[in-house]
Amino acid sequence: ATVVQLDGVHKEYGDTTALDGVSLSIRAGEAVAVMGPSGCGKSTLLNMIAGLDRPTAGTVVVQGEDLGRKNETGLALFRRHRIGMIFQFFNLLDDLPALDNVALAAQLTGCKAGPARQRALELLDELGIADRRNVYPAALSGGERQRVAVARALMNRPALLLADEPTGALDSRAGEQVMDLLLDLNQIGQTLLIVTHDERLATRCASRVVELADGRIARVRTLEKA
Ligand code: ADP
Ligand code: ADP
Repeated sequence: ATVVQLDGVHKEYGDTTALDGVSLSIRAGEAVAVMGPSGCGKSTLLNMIAGLDRPTAGTVVVQGEDLGRKNETGLALFRRHRIGMIFQFFNLLDDLPALDNVALAAQLTGCKAGPARQRALELLDELGIADRRNVYPAALSGGERQRVAVARALMNRPALLLADEPTGALDSRAGEQVMDLLLDLNQIGQTLLIVTHDERLATRCASRVVELADGRIARVRTLEKA
């Protein structure tokens, strides 16, 4: 099955062309890394797939749904239910402990607090940080924060996990742990799209590396995975 299908996607911001005809397809279970220099259009591409922004031309279809046909409410529902996102700087809510940060993602989709907290605890346990459930983000290490963010992103069993520089703010040891986590998730079938500058992250986790330059796909590398 195809999870993501982009066809001829262009994005202009005023006079700036951020994406200049990108076509890309991602199958269920794939892990794709998007690389390229600053300003080449990586974040714009991620935003198109997440339904956070709309292309100027071209189509974005995720899990059979044409995002161009959705209104803002439809896009917000799509994001909450279908997409998990993790970010370089975690984007956790500072005034909530780890467990509540994770549980909130399900409560935003209408899940009751009890079951949401139950699933959140299970995920924190699977990610090895259940003992940190009552700790606020400020008191967690970078690696722990990113694991909480991964748990949050997985709460609603997303068809696609989008990661924007997930190791960019971590030291090498914590970065390794997050890479291992992403690899493990992919090995149990999670479809991944990772935007990164980190060649090690790309080659460790991805089966395909898409290199962008000036808003176009300049090169695609297919990697042998062990
Ligand atoms: P990357 O993530 O690879 O650094 P971006 O997707 O952020 O690249 O940006 C691609 C191009 O689009 C850059 O020239 C950037 O300045 C421009 N751009 C991105 N977002 C906006 C925006 N909201 N308004 C104006 N220009 C933007
Ligand atoms: P919005 O009002 O823009 O819809 P939300 O209230 O849904 O935002 O989200 C609050 C915070 O949680 C934001 O920082 C957002 O980036 C993050 N977030 C929302 N949904 C997800 C998700 N599925 N995965 C990871 N983070 C999410």
